[in-house]
Amino acid sequence: MIRVAIDGPSGAGKSTVAKRIAKDFSIIYVDTGAMYRCIGLYALRQQIDTKNTDLITALLTDINLKTAYNEQTGQRIFLNNEDVSDAIRTPEASMAASDVSAIPAVRAFLLDLQQNMAKQQSLIMDGRDIGTVVIPDAELKIFLTASPESRAKRRHLEYLQKGMNNSYEEILKDVIQRDRQDSTRASAPLRQAEDAVLLDTTTIGFEETVSIIKDMIQKKAAQLSTSI
Ligand code: C5P
Repeated sequence: MIRVAIDGPSGAGKSTVAKRIAKDFSIIYVDTGAMYRCIGLYALRQQIDTKNTDLITALLTDINLKTAYNEQTGQRIFLNNEDVSDAIRTPEASMAASDVSAIPAVRAFLLDLQQNMAKQQSLIMDGRDIGTVVIPDAELKIFLTASPESRAKRRHLEYLQKGMNNSYEEILKDVIQRDRQDSTRASAPLRQAEDAVLLDTTTIGFEETVSIIKDMIQKKAAQLSTSI
């Protein structure tokens, strides 16, 4: 069994890279950001201030989250039985996710779910605190990063492909603000675990990143004499 924790700031390519590697190795991929996005989306829909700790904490009892994974569709996520996998991919939901993720009760609620998934199966899980909090004993930890400008450029392209025309400047501002929020919050802030391998993708492309990480996984599995 090998559990791979990938952490890093938004737009570093964690989810695209992790999705592809999970497929190549036929293991499960868990996108924890999607879970925070669901809570953010639910709060937005209820028109509740996403920074209000008491109101958001009270909201959690109304929320039922389920994920399903298969190689074709990747991870799909269900919020009270509605598939919101696409609805959570908006700039508003991103910022709402970052807001609610600073609330300790939200983190505790999702931690339980995430740790249950990481029991006794090989997987790749990505997020901000996987190597530091969720799976501190992961067999392999990677901290994936890139410059804010290159991360904003990637997000911009992604949005354009979906027909959304948010400007590059607006996205860059969001990226910087989310970085600040995510790394300065008191509860499980974004930081590199001491035993994580740092991988900066500013100048390396998608295929190369995938191949570097696959290589690390194979080496780790051989070193531990375990199967992937
Ligand atoms: O990874 P993604 O951009 O989808 O995550 C959305 C937000 O959820 C992040 O900006 C971060 O605030 C929060 N998050 C978190 N811990 C995780 C994953 C995501 O706080 N493990």
